[in-house]
Amino acid sequence: METGTIMNQLEKNLKDQGFPVTTCHIKHLDDLKRDLETPLKRGLIGDDFFRERLSYLKLSPHDYREGLKTIIITAASQQPQETIFYHRGKKYRYLVPPTYSVKTDKLVEKIIIDTIAPHNYAILPAFIPSKIAAVRTGLAKYGRNNITYCNGMGSYFRLKAFLTDLPPGDDQWYEFELMPQCKNCNACLQSCPTGAITTERVLLQATRCLTYHNERIDDFPPWIDKSWHNSLIGCMQCQSVCPMNSKIDIHPDNTLEFMEEETQEFLNAKNEADLPVSVISKLEDLSLYEDWPLLVRNLKAML
Ligand code: SF4
Ligand code: SF4
Repeated sequence: METGTIMNQLEKNLKDQGFPVTTCHIKHLDDLKRDLETPLKRGLIGDDFFRERLSYLKLSPHDYREGLKTIIITAASQQPQETIFYHRGKKYRYLVPPTYSVKTDKLVEKIIIDTIAPHNYAILPAFIPSKIAAVRTGLAKYGRNNITYCNGMGSYFRLKAFLTDLPPGDDQWYEFELMPQCKNCNACLQSCPTGAITTERVLLQATRCLTYHNERIDDFPPWIDKSWHNSLIGCMQCQSVCPMNSKIDIHPDNTLEFMEEETQEFLNAKNEADLPVSVISKLEDLSLYEDWPLLVRNLKAML
């Protein structure tokens, strides 16, 4: 079968299962690298942030095996997850934003493998900035809050990127631009408790964002007010007020309850061995088991 036909079939199979997809030539790894390094050179993001949050990326073809030709970026609609903690006779409810669950990754991967493996093509995970790749290839658009938006999904989706030796289909590469709807809207800026979103720059002030701080283990800086925390990890504030999400049916599709005893043991845990099996199972269900020390710290800040 012609490679173009296989790629067309792959795109169709993914879209038919509800997973929009774009592809581009692997040469764009260079462009992605440039997209990340430009704000660093302009001082819009700091060296520390770059080292800490972006050093896992692999943006040269030499970082992977030979013969790869294409970057595949997929989007999977995802709902927030809900956690309920019972503590000292009270019930606390915290959401986990839609991007954290990895459950759809396997579904997407299986469709790709089932389509291309019979033709002796392979995939492997791509360690690339998937939000930038999605915007550059036209799969998503940036909002003023630096969150990406995809047709029909709003901001409630998860991106996943792969590399393959199957040649690309379309090779579109778009300029960065904000969603037109942001032009006359400041809802996210006004709702952000930390002032991370400004009109002066398109890039979020990442080190002012709650997500940056609650995804790292250091103590919260003193300027973060306890009342600003709103999610077990991450922050839902600027996407929950966004009018681009007003038509999206949003309902947590996974609720995990932590009973009094579980909550107390979780809060008291100093190492993994202290975690009750039932808590581990719930954290795995949330795709957050490895992050348990962060969650304990975050929960303590909110209770
Ligand atoms: S809240 Fe308004 S400005 Fe912010 S991302 Fe949504 S549409 Fe754009
Ligand atoms: S995620 Fe929260 S802290 Fe970060 S920009 Fe949005 S509202 Fe502000």
